[in-house]
Amino acid sequence: MESQKKYTPTFSFELFPPKTEAGMEKLQTNVMKLSVVNPLYFSVTYGAGGSTQERTFESVNWLVAKGFGTAPHISCVGSSREKIIEILTYYKSQNIKRVVALRGDLPSGAGLGGVGELNYANELVALIRSEFGDYFHIEVAAYPEFHPQAGNANSDLQNFKRKVDAGASAAITQYFYNPDAYFRFIESCEKLGIDIPIVPGIMPISNYTQLARFSDSCGTEIPRWMRKRFEAMGDDIDSIKSFGLDVVTTLCDRLLEQGAPGLHFYTMNQSHSVLKIWNNLGL
Ligand code: FAD
Repeated sequence: MESQKKYTPTFSFELFPPKTEAGMEKLQTNVMKLSVVNPLYFSVTYGAGGSTQERTFESVNWLVAKGFGTAPHISCVGSSREKIIEILTYYKSQNIKRVVALRGDLPSGAGLGGVGELNYANELVALIRSEFGDYFHIEVAAYPEFHPQAGNANSDLQNFKRKVDAGASAAITQYFYNPDAYFRFIESCEKLGIDIPIVPGIMPISNYTQLARFSDSCGTEIPRWMRKRFEAMGDDIDSIKSFGLDVVTTLCDRLLEQGAPGLHFYTMNQSHSVLKIWNNLGL
């Protein structure tokens, strides 16, 4: 963890673009609540479909108008170089200096082969650096428990290194509940000479069934001792929330104590759990 300890911890919150007016109102209300703790930035995810992209721009514009640090996500799958440059030129015109650069996923069934001009996130990072120089602070994704499509652990690490070599400034991890997976990942990165902040992504737990389904698809392991405890709670939402809060607070505590360079919360456009964890941590 030595490579991580030299960075001043940063705290940030991730949002997704809501589908409805009511969803947008909820996002705005929760952003106002979260802003009280003064995060470095709010990031907004970006999907492969046209309508969801419009909603990302809408959320980003609102955050910028409110004066919040804003980091739009941008993905390359299914997109052209021209379109990516056009979007980033717009962000630059809005004085946005930070982006989260991803390959992205196509909706299931669409297939990935040969769609779009850029196949992997390292190519996107290289494009951003070649077109915009050092203007953008580029965040990329990291996978302490490895990406589900990775050939193997070593090739996944090498592929992560490609993004760093292409010019990534920092990374945000996929969420995880096993802190040792993160510590080992950092150790492996250190051995490869990777020297950027790698901020743990934190997913608060409020709905175990949903979390279990989603974790399966993105390759996050829910440790057996946690699963067993959650399963025993059945539909008892209050117990699930309270245990979830405990588990995630302990995780964050341990990560920060061992030198993690901050926390990036997957807020799911909610504020309650994140603020509770924040208060528990005494940040
Ligand atoms: P990459 O880094 O390109 O890696 C994808 C896979 O390809 C890995 O298995 C890797 O090992 C392999 N690979 C990489 N480079 C090469 C290469 N040159 N040759 C061969 N194999 C290679 N998705 C969205 O659609 N929108 C979002 O806004 C979004 N935000 C996210 C934010 C965070 C912090 C994280 C962790 C994920 C996010 N995702 C988002 C999900 C992400 O898009 C998926 O996990 C996607 O499958 C991989 O994206 P990536 O940028 O990590 O891809």
